[in-house]
Amino acid sequence: MKKILFLALTVFLLQACKNRTGSGNSSADSNKHFEKFKTEFVEELWQTYPGWATGMGYHKYDSVLMIPNEERRNAELRFADKTGLALDAMPFEGLDANNKTDYKLIRNFIEGVRFNILEFKSHEWDPSNYNIGGMVFDIMDYKQLNVDDKLRTVTKKLANVPAFYEAAKASINKPTKEHTELAIKQNEGSFYLFNNVLPDSLKASKLTEAERNAFVQNTAAAKKAVENYIAWLKKTYPTTDTTKFRSFKIGKELYAKKFLLDVDSRYTAAEMYAKAEVRKEYLHKEMNKLADELWSKYFGDAVFKGDATADSQNLKIKMLIDKISLQHCKRDSFLQTIEKQLPELTAFINAHHIIDLDSTKPLEVRKTPDYAAGVAGAGINSPGPYDKEATTYYNVTPLNNYTAEDAESYLREYNDYVLQILNIHEAIPGHYTQGIYANRSPSIIKAIFGNGATIEGWACYVERMMLEEGYNPSPEMILFYYKWNLRETCNFILDYNVQCNNWSQQQATDFLVNQAFQQKKEASEKWRRASLTQVQLTSYFTGLTEIYELREELKKAQGDKFDLKKFHEQFLSFGSAPVKEIRELMR
Ligand code: ZN
Ligand code: ZN
Repeated sequence: MKKILFLALTVFLLQACKNRTGSGNSSADSNKHFEKFKTEFVEELWQTYPGWATGMGYHKYDSVLMIPNEERRNAELRFADKTGLALDAMPFEGLDANNKTDYKLIRNFIEGVRFNILEFKSHEWDPSNYNIGGMVFDIMDYKQLNVDDKLRTVTKKLANVPAFYEAAKASINKPTKEHTELAIKQNEGSFYLFNNVLPDSLKASKLTEAERNAFVQNTAAAKKAVENYIAWLKKTYPTTDTTKFRSFKIGKELYAKKFLLDVDSRYTAAEMYAKAEVRKEYLHKEMNKLADELWSKYFGDAVFKGDATADSQNLKIKMLIDKISLQHCKRDSFLQTIEKQLPELTAFINAHHIIDLDSTKPLEVRKTPDYAAGVAGAGINSPGPYDKEATTYYNVTPLNNYTAEDAESYLREYNDYVLQILNIHEAIPGHYTQGIYANRSPSIIKAIFGNGATIEGWACYVERMMLEEGYNPSPEMILFYYKWNLRETCNFILDYNVQCNNWSQQQATDFLVNQAFQQKKEASEKWRRASLTQVQLTSYFTGLTEIYELREELKKAQGDKFDLKKFHEQFLSFGSAPVKEIRELMR
């Protein structure tokens, strides 16, 4: 029955488009037709993925909670098929360059949906796919809505939570141990929502008694469902019983496909991996030269007793890094130090004509809000495409809760030099600046399907570019930039080897400590990330490499006419499209 209906729809779509093509199709018509299709597609996308819509700042479907069962996955596949057919009928050649890119991004999205459900199947092995907390936080965090309306929305959304977790249990089949532990931790994290955020909001609200009762009832049932889910995971999959779990390593074949879809590079994973190995060797060589240059400044007459072997050279580099890392700010002035540096970066960028910075869009450095705390470090929280005027936050987690020892280790890692690189990466002209340009891009499709390698690649590219333009050109700064760049490079090498070549935790740790000069704590956190994500860690090196190659190519082709500022502004004007598509648009 379903199949017949589906075929009928296909014929209808083909017919509709044939008619259009038949009546003297101009490219203006094609573009108009495609714009209309995009508008309808986006609306249907948000209907199908209401949680994602909320996260993007589109709040029409906030109250809807999809039940993650088989039926739901089939509906996603039908949406992908339908969109695919509509694209097939679209006159691709008649589209302008920007629409061609949008077309390809939608096509890539469809392939991603099919891949995820039919091959990758994380709904079976990743229990952390099921977590109500984040979705509700996104609603409560929505500034434009008053608290009463938010609580009404949450009441509706939470009504489906017991069914949501029942479907979760039915979907899970031989999960990984790592994702099971993560699911337990993250779902426990949502108790903060049930115990603090929601009750506090209720106190501040003016709901009617009936509304209050419905709210209290639904939140109580939802909380119970979360507790049951956690208990069920612990009982069904006790972490001591290794026979219950599958490995988190996805293997070469799935990895290659996921790399193709997620990173959308013009290189394969294996090709990019080879480039990362070359870069690592280059960085070791350059760091060794800098270590010789800086040695006597930090160690005086004490001669380094080593030989010319790689192990010995790496030890020398490590000793020097450890010594210079002692230059760092005090733990209680971490946030202020970051805040103070931003105007200095802005001044440098303006003086050197690097890129136009939009001074009307505020950047606010703040303490990471409680619900997002627990993740250490600093990060940018950019407004989504539906909320362009909102403030960008630079969330910094204060070190108050650290032991003296952990704080010291953290501050050495983010020493005076690395902290500047971090600010360039996260804020100016990194993620914050890129986010503002991306929101200015007229294409909502490019904003929705923002490419992770473009976003991370840009932030990594500007670190290197700022130093090339003469920002703080001391040998120490260059040494720490190389260390940072080595981390980006080794993220790729690590991810690839863990997922495809079965590296053990011991191999990974040895690699990060000895070849990337990382602290043990940093290395163990990186191992955890490599076991929970796949391919994401490759986005830094891949994006940087592709952006840098594009720039050098254009430089060569344009000679004296090449203008760095223009290159930056033009690159960012295409939003967060994949670098390979921006490349087509710029060449
Ligand atoms: Zn210290
Ligand atoms: Zn980043």
